[in-house]
Amino acid sequence: MSSLIAANWKMHKTVAEATAVCAPFTALAASVHRCRDTGVRVLAQNMHELPHGAFTGEVSAPMLLELGVDGVLLGHSERREHFAESDQALAAKVPAALDAGLTPVLCVGETAAERARGDTERKLRDQIQQDLAAVAPQRLAEVVIAYEPIWAIGTGVVATPEQAQEAIAFIRALVADRGAEAATEIRILYGGSVTPENAGELLALADVDGALVGSASLAADSFAAIAGSAPQ
Ligand code: PEP
Repeated sequence: MSSLIAANWKMHKTVAEATAVCAPFTALAASVHRCRDTGVRVLAQNMHELPHGAFTGEVSAPMLLELGVDGVLLGHSERREHFAESDQALAAKVPAALDAGLTPVLCVGETAAERARGDTERKLRDQIQQDLAAVAPQRLAEVVIAYEPIWAIGTGVVATPEQAQEAIAFIRALVADRGAEAATEIRILYGGSVTPENAGELLALADVDGALVGSASLAADSFAAIAGSAPQ
């Protein structure tokens, strides 16, 4: 399986700057246009679980599909923390994305306090079980999961290879509880302070199928260096 290296541009980049990879809503159309026939896929950073309705300010799967978007990041810790994104909403969003033909990239991860008190596995189990509850076992492998320890996001403190491998192997085991085949096929990414310097070691880990990159994806050369360090 080839590695998946995803760039999370967050709320950076105007339309004029958006010429490659993932983008905020306002830059999606330009990104889709620019990435056509390149093999680079374009993802949104959120969507509503319903296809239409009285939900002012929200964006639906059909709206993303109309632009030619390939997938959607769901449950990023910033959305969970700042916008009250709940596991209940995610349990509806993940299957809604799949049903619409969008690849959901579901983010999960623990806080520093949860890790310190030994609650990492409990947190990951709760998130995976709740957020994927309504996904049929035969469709689980179409979901991408990003393990993003919250303490590593945007902090410069990257998980050690042992921490990343242990957490991602645990997530894979949780998926295996729902379907053994899905567990071998599903892509699980690591995210949190990935840089060109640490990417090679992380991407070489047995259970790590790629990376979700924030800050280091904003400059083309550092993102290209990370993508270039993925095993072929
Ligand atoms: C992220 O926001 O998903 C992320 C991984 O950010 P960073 O790479 O900057 O830690």
